[in-house]
Amino acid sequence: MFISFEGIDGSGKSTQARRLAQTLAARATEVVLTREPGGSEGAEEIRRLLVEGRGERWSPETELLLFTAARRDHVERLIRPARARGAWVITDRFADSTRVYQGLVRADLRQLVEELHRLTIGIEPDLTFIIDIDPEVSLTRGQARGGPEDRFETFGLTFQKKLREGFLTLAAEAPERIRVIDGSGSEDEVATRVLAALT
Ligand code: ATP
Ligand code: C5P
Repeated sequence: MFISFEGIDGSGKSTQARRLAQTLAARATEVVLTREPGGSEGAEEIRRLLVEGRGERWSPETELLLFTAARRDHVERLIRPARARGAWVITDRFADSTRVYQGLVRADLRQLVEELHRLTIGIEPDLTFIIDIDPEVSLTRGQARGGPEDRFETFGLTFQKKLREGFLTLAAEAPERIRVIDGSGSEDEVATRVLAALT
């Protein structure tokens, strides 16, 4: 089983990915918890290039190519081998983030995103949870943890609102794969919603 968690910055997706991985591991399932950008040695190196670039160094097209290169390495080196041995793979972000950030919000590159995905990645998660949250709430959570020092996007509200719309549009386009989870409330409440949607 291959599961991705998606959502705007500070939506709580890393928290929920980790919690689901812990729950499944306690049931003696082999679980590989990973993240993007990154997840493999090469992809983590590319992540550093992206983070150090902070959205200024690369054009939207180059940024898209870097994200795609990182994903290709992540799939080759980590995701595909883990799936081949029957492990559950839970990733904090995957291709939907690229569809929304690079395809819709940073620039209008949706066609290029899809074409690159088809040519170089070619897989989708079996299930995707979008942790949906009011950007005002996620902004507060982001500030509470000390701000965007390792981020290359700003936490601007307008940007986050566009991201949220983008994720909800994707969810409407692929209802068989994507479940929108209400991300408000406590970590426990959200985790319960995720488990309910999984079973
Ligand atoms: P990013 O994409 O920016 O890394 P994220 O979507 O992965 O963020 P988390 O890192 O899981 O989000 O959470 C962001 C912050 O909000 C953290 O400080 C986390 O402890 C806190 N948090 C997560 N879930 C909740 C919740 N349900 N209620 C309150 N705070 C939460
Ligand atoms: O999810 P995480 O916080 O690790 O992502 C790191 C940074 O990369 C965030 O600022 C996020 O907004 C950005 N990002 C992006 N495009 C993606 C995925 C993440 O701009 N496709």
